[in-house]
Amino acid sequence: MRSVVLVIVFLLSFTRLPAWGFYAHKLINQQAIFSLPPELMVFFKPQASFLREKAVNPDRRRYAVKGEAEKHFIDLDVYGDNALQVLPRYWSDAVDLIGEDSLRKSGIAPWSTYRTFLQLVRAFERKEAENILRLAADLGHYLGDIHVPLHTTKNYNGQFTGQYGIHGFWESRLPELYAESYNFFVGKAEYVKDPQQAIWYTVGQSHAALDSVLGFEAVLNKRFAEDKKYSFEERGGINTRVYSRAYSEAYHQMLAGQVERQMRKTIKLIADFWYTAWILAGQPDLDGSTPNMPENEDEPGAPADPTLKIRDHETIFRNPPAHLSRSLSTYVCSAPAARTYFERRPRFLPIG
Ligand SMILES: [Zn+2]
Repeated sequence: MRSVVLVIVFLLSFTRLPAWGFYAHKLINQQAIFSLPPELMVFFKPQASFLREKAVNPDRRRYAVKGEAEKHFIDLDVYGDNALQVLPRYWSDAVDLIGEDSLRKSGIAPWSTYRTFLQLVRAFERKEAENILRLAADLGHYLGDIHVPLHTTKNYNGQFTGQYGIHGFWESRLPELYAESYNFFVGKAEYVKDPQQAIWYTVGQSHAALDSVLGFEAVLNKRFAEDKKYSFEERGGINTRVYSRAYSEAYHQMLAGQVERQMRKTIKLIADFWYTAWILAGQPDLDGSTPNMPENEDEPGAPADPTLKIRDHETIFRNPPAHLSRSLSTYVCSAPAARTYFERRPRFLPIG
């Protein structure tokens, strides 16, 4: 087993991973298709690459669309230990109790994910093939985000506990290193009786897993010297500071399958939700409606809006060679010499 892992690690070290940071979201959306019943499979399967590529659209939108960023998380700890008991399940009740501005500040993932689900039901009812695919891809993303424990806390990147960078470590680095060895066969999609409750249940479960996400890394941090904790790898031609293989391996082992479990749960719930939306819409026959979806288009009208304060989750530590730093100046901050923090948002559940 160990040698298998080593071989995979060895192979990965020579594989340029496509779309760093988005890997897990894409993988999850794609895998969910395989759990669908034949009636839905005939519609979704030919669109697999669209669903995979668009799995990260909501993250891209965060920089351009007001109101998008807060759909990806909820800081449960802002509401105290009884957050899940206190927070109303219905958006209008929550607005009455807490106020919309406050809600948005701490994230609205459970409410907005449910809303996206309802929009998908409507798209199925109207047999709007393009909308079904766009909303299904979005829903996959949002369901992915609520399976990431660090999407349920204000300490989302370990910034309050001296663990800055842990967000991308858990949701990007680990899946990219190990997901190829995970088992993603999650069984057939099942009807979800109460999707709203299922979302809140998931958020609660993710939040409960936070202890180990942060706790294990804190333990490990004491065992590793700084120079063993990080290493450099080439990313897109740039020498990039990352959590070292040894450190990643040790953390992954301590987590005892947690990343794989969360990815599997996500895949299953996405398939369940797509299936349930279709059932609630009266199981429309979509055979024959195969739209030509543009895979490479960017989100419509998406120049970044600098007034939006976006919570950056994924942190890659970058130290670009001088001749590259100029061409990368759009995203690499030029600051204090040797170590540059390059923030991007990611994936799984990647991470926001
Ligand atoms: Zn997200």
